[in-house]
Amino acid sequence: MAEAVKKLWPDTKLAIGPAIEDGFYYDFDKEDPFTEEDLVKIEGEMKKIIARDEAFLHEEMDKGQALELFKKLKEDYKVELIQGIAGNKVSIYKTGKDFLDLCAGPHIKSTGKIKAFKLLSVAGAYWHGIETNPMLQRIYGTCFETTKELDEYLKNLEEAKLRDHRKLGPQLGFFDIYHEEAGAGLVFYHPKGALLRTIIEDYEKSEHLKRGYQLVITPHIMDASLWKTSGHYDYYKENMYTFTAEEKEFVLKPMNCPGHMLIYKSKTRSYKDMPLRFFELGTVYRREKAGVLHGLLRVRGFTQDDAHIFCLPEQLRQEIKGVIDFVFDTMKVFGFEEVGIELSTRPEKSIGSDEDWQKATAALEDALKEKGLNYEINQGDGAFYGPKIDIKLKDALKRTWQCATIQCDFALPKRFNLAYIDAEGKEKQPIMLHRVLLGSLERFIGALIEHYKGDLPLWLAPVQVLLIPIKDTARSYAETVKARLEKENIRVDIDLRNETLDKRIRNAELNKIPYCLIIGEREAKQSLVSVRKKGAGDQGAVAPDKFIEQLKNQIQEHK
Ligand code: ZN
Repeated sequence: MAEAVKKLWPDTKLAIGPAIEDGFYYDFDKEDPFTEEDLVKIEGEMKKIIARDEAFLHEEMDKGQALELFKKLKEDYKVELIQGIAGNKVSIYKTGKDFLDLCAGPHIKSTGKIKAFKLLSVAGAYWHGIETNPMLQRIYGTCFETTKELDEYLKNLEEAKLRDHRKLGPQLGFFDIYHEEAGAGLVFYHPKGALLRTIIEDYEKSEHLKRGYQLVITPHIMDASLWKTSGHYDYYKENMYTFTAEEKEFVLKPMNCPGHMLIYKSKTRSYKDMPLRFFELGTVYRREKAGVLHGLLRVRGFTQDDAHIFCLPEQLRQEIKGVIDFVFDTMKVFGFEEVGIELSTRPEKSIGSDEDWQKATAALEDALKEKGLNYEINQGDGAFYGPKIDIKLKDALKRTWQCATIQCDFALPKRFNLAYIDAEGKEKQPIMLHRVLLGSLERFIGALIEHYKGDLPLWLAPVQVLLIPIKDTARSYAETVKARLEKENIRVDIDLRNETLDKRIRNAELNKIPYCLIIGEREAKQSLVSVRKKGAGDQGAVAPDKFIEQLKNQIQEHK
């Protein structure tokens, strides 16, 4: 691509061009911005280069020689890069008549090996990502071994655009994020979105109670001294919102853990009380730079389904296994079947003894093994206070979403002097696990919307049934049916607008409502409802009681 760009616009300066997860990009310094038509032109030039099957020739050049060469070529960015390279040698690749570039390699042998590629987009990018540096133009592209794979990838990209929660969410009346008066990265749930979130929260609360968790609720603002005890004030301050009132400094909570520590500490705990599992749907606030905010995935305020488990050393493995089961059961209920699992081990900068780390890591790993789960190890990627398991769910397009985390912590129990009385009457420090199942509810709702393309399963749909009386004469019967559905806790709406039946059905489809009940004079007379299922059409006329029974079965099975 860079060779093609230089051929078409010789004055363009080259910056950097690495491979990335789904392809590659290159940053260029060019006076006029690249247009969509330019991308087509570049692709044309690239095809010629591929047809010529030019060899990639590697050369180790003396640094001084390389500097001179790139200065002569007026490649200022390359000159700067060479100056930053340690050692005396610079690795260079040449191709074609006169194209050369810095590259550590390795490379394919020649351009003819490139089978299927596509340039995707252009975006602005600062040199080294620093805002005071010149703004460059970044061209993104992707490349596959076969046209079939490329086409599949491009189809998925288009599909992903159609599923984008940032578009679908507001469109379906679930939420909006940006209000100029309120600031960026803060979510406003509209009635349907608030209902969806309440359904998720209610499900979680009842499941946690069934599994031996206790619900707790902790304050949103707490004195700065608490955050000094927890260590957040020193290690996490750039992510916290702090403010002063009545000469006291407060913190808007970025995490729920310290609050749960205080509840643990509020009384003497015995080994007989263990394990203790505190669960909170805790809303936290974190400072994020405006540039990294992204839909519901990266926001400044979000709610975690957060729990802290305090247990005896001999209970640790069982507790971890319990959390893993809980994660898998929950994901299945929400319709996610595939996951990726990672185990992150001790980083270089960390606290705690080798023995503690070894024990905790072994407990996490053994639990995964005993469950027969496949996992990858992220060497040195644990938190500074303990190792962790991340479970990422895969959506309908096989994209991964960060979801559950199970983390062992040695630091907080020590910092807060947590203790329990053991069988001999001695004070011991409990082991603590932090864990979230869905993670941030905001991000999870984003994943749900994209996974289902807005077509939520019946049990999650904010409006489950829409009643459409064909004419005014059927209205009073329709109102009776509505009341009956409501009595059964079915979420129902009625469309009384003076629109054609077709238009009202289409509107229900656009709003992704799972069922419509069409009610005309015939239905009213025979005490029936005509059922229309989204995506499946007319299901025939049934008695309202029969419809309610079917619906309730489906809802109970989380379908
Ligand atoms: Zn925590």
